[in-house]
Amino acid sequence: MSEAKACPCRRGEPFEQCCGPVLAGERAAATAEALMRSRYTAFATGDVDYLRRSWHPSTRPVELELDPGQRWLFLEIVRTERGGPFDDIGVVEFIAHYRADDVRGSLHEVSRFRRENGAWVYLDGVVEQ
Ligand SMILES: [Zn+2]
Repeated sequence: MSEAKACPCRRGEPFEQCCGPVLAGERAAATAEALMRSRYTAFATGDVDYLRRSWHPSTRPVELELDPGQRWLFLEIVRTERGGPFDDIGVVEFIAHYRADDVRGSLHEVSRFRRENGAWVYLDGVVEQ
């Protein structure tokens, strides 16, 4: 094995074979879950351009700034609903774990995704308490 770095989304593959090509625009995310993973990886690596590109135009924030004090630790996919190669909508429930100012926390969200012109994009989400 080479010293390839594991992808932050922790699917178990190197970044170059997992979310890397999706962030680079070389490969589309095949499923809503793959898009969710790529967006988590973009948060973890600070790829604001990709976060904006993968956001539905109707809900995309005008300004997007990431908190530099927040480090994303790992992602848990809780469940998925549709979001497959033959669907146009998908739901992904996830828990994203982070550390901010030395305090650990997590974001539990049910996100909705839509496929527009063949490409999955993030529509919106509801934070679970
Ligand atoms: Zn990945």
